[in-house]
Amino acid sequence: MPDRAGRQWRSFDAVLAHTPDFAYTFDLEGRFTYINAALLNLWQRSFDEAVGKNFFELDYPPELAGRLQRQIQEVIVSGQPVRDRTPYTGADGQPGYYEYIFVPVTGADGTVEAVAGSTRDITESARTEATLRESQRRFEQLADAMPQIVWTATADGALDYVNEQLTRYSGLDRSEALGAGWLTIVHPDDREKAAETWRHSLATGELYDTMFRLRTMDGAWRDHLVRARPVVNEAGMIDHWYGTCTDIQNERDIAQELAASRDRSRAILESISDAFLTYDGEWRFTYLNGAAERILQRSRENLLGRVVWSEFPEAAGSVFEREYRRAVETGVAVQFEEFYPPLNTWLAVHAYPSGQGLTVYFQDIGERKRAEAERERLLSELARSNAELAVFAHVAAHDLQSPLRMVKVYTQLLEARVKDQLDDSAMALMGTVLDGANRMSQLIQSLLNYAQVNQMERERGPVAMGSIVAEALAHLSPLIAEARAEIHTGDLPAVPGDGVQILQLMQNLLSNAVKYRRPDLPLVIRISGKYTGNEWIFEVRDNGQGIPAEYREAIFQPLKRLHGHEVPGTGIGLAVCQRIVERHGGRIWVEPAPDEGSSFYFTLAG
Ligand code: ADP
Repeated sequence: MPDRAGRQWRSFDAVLAHTPDFAYTFDLEGRFTYINAALLNLWQRSFDEAVGKNFFELDYPPELAGRLQRQIQEVIVSGQPVRDRTPYTGADGQPGYYEYIFVPVTGADGTVEAVAGSTRDITESARTEATLRESQRRFEQLADAMPQIVWTATADGALDYVNEQLTRYSGLDRSEALGAGWLTIVHPDDREKAAETWRHSLATGELYDTMFRLRTMDGAWRDHLVRARPVVNEAGMIDHWYGTCTDIQNERDIAQELAASRDRSRAILESISDAFLTYDGEWRFTYLNGAAERILQRSRENLLGRVVWSEFPEAAGSVFEREYRRAVETGVAVQFEEFYPPLNTWLAVHAYPSGQGLTVYFQDIGERKRAEAERERLLSELARSNAELAVFAHVAAHDLQSPLRMVKVYTQLLEARVKDQLDDSAMALMGTVLDGANRMSQLIQSLLNYAQVNQMERERGPVAMGSIVAEALAHLSPLIAEARAEIHTGDLPAVPGDGVQILQLMQNLLSNAVKYRRPDLPLVIRISGKYTGNEWIFEVRDNGQGIPAEYREAIFQPLKRLHGHEVPGTGIGLAVCQRIVERHGGRIWVEPAPDEGSSFYFTLAG
């Protein structure tokens, strides 16, 4: 061996003897031709013991020995190096890894003359690698379990990982999203902004925090909140970005719906004429509508956030405060009407306790209260004037009746005394005086009746109309018999009312039907009644003389008659009927009946 080469070899040997790696060479049969100190030390063999042997002969497990011998042959045949690793169990019983490389040693003509190899213990780095892989696996498992889209990107902004949620959500294959592929599922209108903000974050290292629409599997666009933060390495350089995309469409929809429904309720509250306001738990105004502003004569800006008891000091200690506090303490709504002196009006208030405080709606009922008071006043005035009228009617009737009685008595006395001395025409004149006096007293009686309709306040009970009609007919029986009237009554209901007055009503109508019959026709009277759903309606129909259209209203006025003295009457009967019906909450009117007679209708409140 030339000296130069020998020196070189010695220095290699010195290096190889001290490296912790194993270094060795094989001949073309796969036998060791050189083994460095580290490997001999592992084997606990001397160089001479080991050299010239192959792995089998050095008691390697047959399977490993077979693989290693085969790989040596591969290197010889292919002229290419082989790199591989193998596990081992260390002296402490812990598993370890060797990584080895076999390389061809070629001669000047390019043929493989031998194989050189080196083996390094890579247990430490393999462990680190495994731990890294394990933590990567855990990260991905965790990321896949997330409902959000989770991703990582390299320092230059290319996506290098994205969780399964992306595929479940958008249908896009994970591999397609990598790099800048994710931009394809960003809404075209949002793409530029998304990319621009991303570039900004990459350049500045600032948090990526933006919002854009992502396409779902079925092509819908949904709002996402997108965030990413950088992770810096030991050198302080951005190593990676960790990001998430969160679907916030539902929250946005709900927020929008809430805003819309709040707007709608505000619009409704503004449009109603009732005043509406709310207090929080500290009695501060939190809302009031336009009607509340008007009634309270204060503006919203002026009241919101202020405490009611200091803004309306007169309310403190009043019914208002007592009732409001009661509602809040008991959790039960209250309602009341109360006069509020500073506003000089009455308020009708409904207050509802709520989780946030109290909701109050109220109306200015000053007008109603004034109207009620006015009505009360008028009613009592009316009652007083009615009472006065009744007294007056009574007194007047008596005062008129007694001179009339005198006229009758003295005329009769005179008649008895001078009967023989008077001729027929004088007697007839005397008869006329008596007649006039009688009619006058009837008239006074009728007017008295009419005045009394309103006076008598009798108990109202169910009145059987069938029996009323029967009783009225009984009272009129001589007239009816004389007229040979034919009477038809259907099934008549019982109605609420004053029996005495309804009897009078029926009697007046029936006696009219008899009085105003046609002489040339047998009289037929039909009485019927039914309930219409909210009132009773009765009909008394005759086939008599009928009433000309122009008088159909006038006949209900007191003293209005269409007939002369040939038919007895005072013209008060129908006026009494009308008063009775009106006192029962009904109406009375007349219509022509089919056979030229009259149909009197009246209703009674149900
Ligand atoms: P009176 O019968 O005492 O005259 P009413 O008030 O009862 O007074 O009637 C007013 C007028 O209406 C009568 O004078 C009569 O001319 C007319 N009248 C009332 N009932 C009928 C009827 N059933 N048929 C035709 N005319 C009638």
